[in-house]
Amino acid sequence: MKKKKVGVVCPQCKKKFNYYDSDFRPFCSERCKQIDLGHWLEESYNIPSGEPLQEEDFDKIEQEELKKDS
Ligand SMILES: [Zn+2]
Repeated sequence: MKKKKVGVVCPQCKKKFNYYDSDFRPFCSERCKQIDLGHWLEESYNIPSGEPLQEEDFDKIEQEELKKDS
């Protein structure tokens, strides 16, 4: 049976590799997969979970703005 060959570009390092050669599809290597997963976790951690801003957040923003003015 002929092995399938599909050239794809790793979304992480932009390196070209054979899709069916990698155990970490759609990434070329475990490292790239881990990096992407790390980014994803970091991003989801930073994104507010749909909650409205708290009063203390406004205070913080206000203080930052005051710092800029002075
Ligand atoms: Zn890669």
